[in-house]
Amino acid sequence: MPSPPPILSTTSPSDLTTTTTTFHLTPDEFTTLLQKSTASKSTAYCPYSNFRVGCCLLTTSGTYITGANVENASYPVTTCAERVAFGKAITEGHRGFKAVAVATDIAPPASPCGMCRQFIREFCELSVPIIMFDGSGGYSVMRLEELLPLSFGPEALGVASQTKAADQPSASS
Ligand SMILES: [Zn+2]
Repeated sequence: MPSPPPILSTTSPSDLTTTTTTFHLTPDEFTTLLQKSTASKSTAYCPYSNFRVGCCLLTTSGTYITGANVENASYPVTTCAERVAFGKAITEGHRGFKAVAVATDIAPPASPCGMCRQFIREFCELSVPIIMFDGSGGYSVMRLEELLPLSFGPEALGVASQTKAADQPSASS
């Protein structure tokens, strides 16, 4: 069984430098992902679990798109924060993603569920970092290919990858 990734600290300059260097993010991008994913937790609709999840996507064009979990009285109908965020991004025309951030209130950090890993796989390069922030200043980072090894994607069905190096969102209102 693979060992879990190290728990890093959002207040450690060396951790931040290592993360931003490894995953080709600017310090400002990392900080914005932290702030926006954390803030998005307050937009969650989760009266049943009270388990708030915030998500923030960074596109390759520099746009941030947020989401949060939306629960339902019929529990399986619930949608996770990641799928809410990607749904917004995709319908706004975004196709290139540089990073995915997910924030919860627990520690150690929670990782995207299996369904969301597959959902992310449809639209992201396997090297895209998934940054998981916990509720007490800790975080972990794993690439999509580490969270979802041997993954199944559009290519297997003869469809070109949906990811684009240059995100060029279509005009939207
Ligand atoms: Zn999920």
